Amino acid sequence: MKKVAQLDSFRDMAERVGRFSVQGKSFLIPEMNPVNSHLLAGVFQSYGVPAEVMETYTGLDLGKKHTSGKECFPCVVTLGDILYYMEKEKERLGDRFKPERYMYFMPEAGGPCRFGMYNKYHRIILDSIPGLEKVKITSLSADDAYDIQGLIPGDSMQGFRKAGYLSVVVGDVLDRMLWRIRPYERSEGITDTFIMNARERLAESFAKHSSRGDFTPILLDLEGIVKEAKELIDPNIPRKALIGVVGEIYVRTHVKSNQDTIRVLEKYGAEGVNASLAEWINYTTYDQARRARIDLGLHLRNFQLKEMKKDLLKYMKYSLILFYQYMQQRKVYRMVGKHLDIIEDHRIAPLERALKKNNTFSFEIGTEACLSISSALVLSHHGYNGIVNIFPFTCMPSNLTASIAKPLMRKHNVPYIDVSYDGSFQPGREAALRTFMYQASQHFKTHGRP
Ligand code: SF4
Repeated sequence: MKKVAQLDSFRDMAERVGRFSVQGKSFLIPEMNPVNSHLLAGVFQSYGVPAEVMETYTGLDLGKKHTSGKECFPCVVTLGDILYYMEKEKERLGDRFKPERYMYFMPEAGGPCRFGMYNKYHRIILDSIPGLEKVKITSLSADDAYDIQGLIPGDSMQGFRKAGYLSVVVGDVLDRMLWRIRPYERSEGITDTFIMNARERLAESFAKHSSRGDFTPILLDLEGIVKEAKELIDPNIPRKALIGVVGEIYVRTHVKSNQDTIRVLEKYGAEGVNASLAEWINYTTYDQARRARIDLGLHLRNFQLKEMKKDLLKYMKYSLILFYQYMQQRKVYRMVGKHLDIIEDHRIAPLERALKKNNTFSFEIGTEACLSISSALVLSHHGYNGIVNIFPFTCMPSNLTASIAKPLMRKHNVPYIDVSYDGSFQPGREAALRTFMYQASQHFKTHGRP
């Protein structure tokens, strides 16, 4: 009997966390950074899905109330976001509140870290609150490079995926514009206001044009924005020390969780550049092709023809997707680069080569550690004046990064700092960042910047 009950509870979990069709639901997207989620919501809206980005961090206390303190910090923040949203909707709609109308978006990744568990944990908590068991959680997984099969009707899938990827790249570009301009702005605060405005304009553009399959109007809107943005720079302010930011994707990107680290660095003389979101999407695609290539080699050695055919098809599929992504990314950065010198994003293969060169780490271990360690290495070779590793307290891959990148950066004589966050305010943190920036400024004075 006990066994049957256990099986039922597992079946329940699979029925309400998975890749569900989002058609006809209010689709709720957590805000990871101030730009990207809003552009992605625009893409969904273009395909007829009423998508909305949830207010973030306001519900942190609710997230903390339903967690023990051992969970990853992004899990706590996103849980707070969904619970707070539901609370507000109940208040707003009263008897008209129908939880089954909502679908919550929480992607996942495979092991060894815990990102694959967030949506399951959120499911358990939602199930424990009367009514909220009806809110479905839809998910995409890094294990198949975020295949959207099931979410969107089959005939729209390809177009949707292309528009979704473009929204990620355009979001990255807006972020890079912010970090390029803000340290040199003509008057305080104009860049933040401008970028928030640009986000609204581009979210509308994505909502209007994504499903038509022709992205030219979106790119023209972006080009117009870049031309305007250029005028915000005061040419009399000299260039500053260039700081590369690596680390766990959610906390390094979520400005409230990382207590606006890049702004603090800027206060002490930095121009910061965070790792992009497209890096992770490109990595998951690259990794699928990489694994298929390895499997192909193994099956070739054993003359397993059927498996070889499967591996070859998989390898070709993901290599083509990656080729398309790089092509699209390059097109956008080239167009922006004609007007404003933002830093172009890197590709994944050189990162893997950098790790292999001295056997520093391996893509076989996976997680973000392989990206963060290799990025720190590549950025230091490019002449960056300092590296910051931002991550949630207790994050397994980031602590791995810290243990490897720190001595490496010391060897390369590049200032480096680990900063971990768990929602609490540490009085000494700003002093540590200021000291780091002093070292980075000395590096800048001696070596210049790339
Ligand atoms: S990367 Fe770190 S914070 Fe994110 S799920 Fe894994 S262990 Fe948790």
